[in-house]
Amino acid sequence: MIAKVWSAAVRGMEGYPVSVELEISGGLPRYATVGLPDTAVRESRERVASALRNSGYQFPARRITVNLAPAEHRKRGTQFDLPVGLGMLAASGQLPDGDWRSRFWFLGELALDGRVKPVSGVLPMAAAARAHGAQGLVLAPENAAEAAAVGVPSFPVESLEHAARFVAGRAALSPARPRPAQDAVLAPDLAEVKGQALAKRALEIAAAGGHHLLLSGPPGCGKSMLAQRLPGILPPLSEPEALELATVLSVAGELREGRWPSQRPFRSPHHSASPASLIGGGQPARPGEVSLAHAGVLFLDELPEFSRDALEGLRVPLESGRAAVARVQDRVVFPARLQLVAAQNPCPCGYLGHPGRECACGPGQIARYRAKVSGPLLDRIDLRVELAPLAFEEWADGAASGEPSSAVLARVLAARGRSEERLGPGRANASLRPSELRRLVPLSSAARATLEKAADRFQLSARGLDRALRVARTIADLAGESRVASAHVAEAALLTAGSRETGR
Ligand SMILES: [Zn+2]
Repeated sequence: MIAKVWSAAVRGMEGYPVSVELEISGGLPRYATVGLPDTAVRESRERVASALRNSGYQFPARRITVNLAPAEHRKRGTQFDLPVGLGMLAASGQLPDGDWRSRFWFLGELALDGRVKPVSGVLPMAAAARAHGAQGLVLAPENAAEAAAVGVPSFPVESLEHAARFVAGRAALSPARPRPAQDAVLAPDLAEVKGQALAKRALEIAAAGGHHLLLSGPPGCGKSMLAQRLPGILPPLSEPEALELATVLSVAGELREGRWPSQRPFRSPHHSASPASLIGGGQPARPGEVSLAHAGVLFLDELPEFSRDALEGLRVPLESGRAAVARVQDRVVFPARLQLVAAQNPCPCGYLGHPGRECACGPGQIARYRAKVSGPLLDRIDLRVELAPLAFEEWADGAASGEPSSAVLARVLAARGRSEERLGPGRANASLRPSELRRLVPLSSAARATLEKAADRFQLSARGLDRALRVARTIADLAGESRVASAHVAEAALLTAGSRETGR
């Protein structure tokens, strides 16, 4: 007999239906899974067999074929255990057949004792179930709220036996309710950062224009403190952004309690992070830090200490807002529209140019350290600020002068409103292409002359000039001016060039 049960799988960010067909026939006992199963799917036989026996059912000693369709995608994960188990009960006559096989979709790993365990990627799979007209999803209690948030009735089952009673009409279940979004955590406030006026200004411009930012300075000058305060001066997470981020988290198995995020993420992976954990990879493809930071902030402290492959891998996400993960069989794409804050020391020991401490590095060491961050990566970072060690006077009277994040946020929102009028919703000045710059950033002759002078002084390349113009546009938006004036260009050139002689 053949039984067909509906389930789902994930490819990248997309869920799709999978029909799990079970055939039990005569002949020598044999178990085969077809339809491009990965190792976890093939191992499902052992889990299902134990779960069946430990739930008081029989595992048929016959010829069993499990077919996962469509066959063109490799099936990954453990979510097919529950549909395989139920299909086997139906095909072997241990469970009455009925319309449950067309009404419900099933997702769940089976423990050896028959318990239903949660799986990752439920959000996109539930979205696929809704799109294909499923009347309900049957899954682990831990996954039920996540599926319910998508708007499909979700029935939590504790075990295979519980699921069998439910589909046979012998156990009543009410659909799970979606859970409210995660509680907002109060972000650290800019008012707590003492001194560093230039860096705070750069942070505000970064927030207003969506520009990537590089902070250079000795240890202890406040680079991490500043970076942690960027999410608090960014516009609130929009609903489409929250959905995309929730989907990334779901696929990564990090959507806690099925509750959607309510705030922009802040991720700060260690410099020992592998390229795969940073950009994405693995089997099945898992989103990397660049995608877990989607719609939020990625902070990379000690940027030159990251591996060369990790740094090179950053270029595409920074440029396109997407991270492509190539696998042997296919290529999946995760969203990665993040804002980068990178930090670096002036040299490996950190004290080059420090007034009170001596740098212990040789010139060759310093050159190698700086060369690790390549020009093409730096080209994608509009703002570069050199932070000085905190002077005692700044530290002593900084506390009273700090402006709260809420005041900065108000200016950022006003500036974003102006740029969105020009560029459309959701787009910030950092996304201005060179062709758009000529049209959308008209310069007065005085501003043009200032730009020319800055190009000469900082030896700005063509890309450097483009960066200066994008930043100047944001500075003008923050000032509420429709035209980019000379003063805006001058400040932009300074913040674009950093203090590096090459002007990269
Ligand atoms: Zn040094």
